[in-house]
Amino acid sequence: MIDPGHGGRFPGAIGPAGTKEKDVVLAVSKILEADLIEMGAEVRMTRSTDVEVAPGASLSGDLKARVDLANQWPADLFISVHANSAENAAAKGTETYHAVQASDRSKTLAKLLQKSMIDDVGLTDRGVKASNFYVIKNTRMPASLVELGFLSNPGEEQVLANPAMQLVFGHALSKGVADYFAVEAHVKPDAPVQVPGDDPGDLLAPGDPAEMLFAGRV
Ligand SMILES: [Zn+2]
Repeated sequence: MIDPGHGGRFPGAIGPAGTKEKDVVLAVSKILEADLIEMGAEVRMTRSTDVEVAPGASLSGDLKARVDLANQWPADLFISVHANSAENAAAKGTETYHAVQASDRSKTLAKLLQKSMIDDVGLTDRGVKASNFYVIKNTRMPASLVELGFLSNPGEEQVLANPAMQLVFGHALSKGVADYFAVEAHVKPDAPVQVPGDDPGDLLAPGDPAEMLFAGRV
């Protein structure tokens, strides 16, 4: 299940040149979707156009609708695609989140998505972090929330708005998913998954306020 963040009445972050998060993440999500279908996966999107997932609902209702779609399917993986924003225009880089009480599989998914984006796109590596964003805390399968880059940073806004770079992001995420299933295939059910490379430390970060709703952070 691919979850392009925001949509419709909820634009998410907006860059200094006017780029909207909802548009960037939908473009990247559609590339990821096409790649995964090509790889033989069954793929669903929480939204495929510029709409709210729960039309007319509050932001909290919209987030719950995304979780419900994934849990009721049920999806094997949940990937929520976002772009970051900060008051400091110099803030930059790519980061990936799993929930605070995440399974080893969620942590593996987050590490592999982050590694693939850093390898292929090459923005600053802000690492893998733990935070209880609503959609990754409440989905009942391995779940990651990726923050592609900072729309509040003028340089990264240009990268994020560039269709050629959106293609690179989408391909990088699909490679991360392929890596995840390759690793998982060699592990017994419920056994811890070992991935090369160290965890950057699960630092809590401010993140994207729209996803912090009901976060219940500890
Ligand atoms: Zn967002």
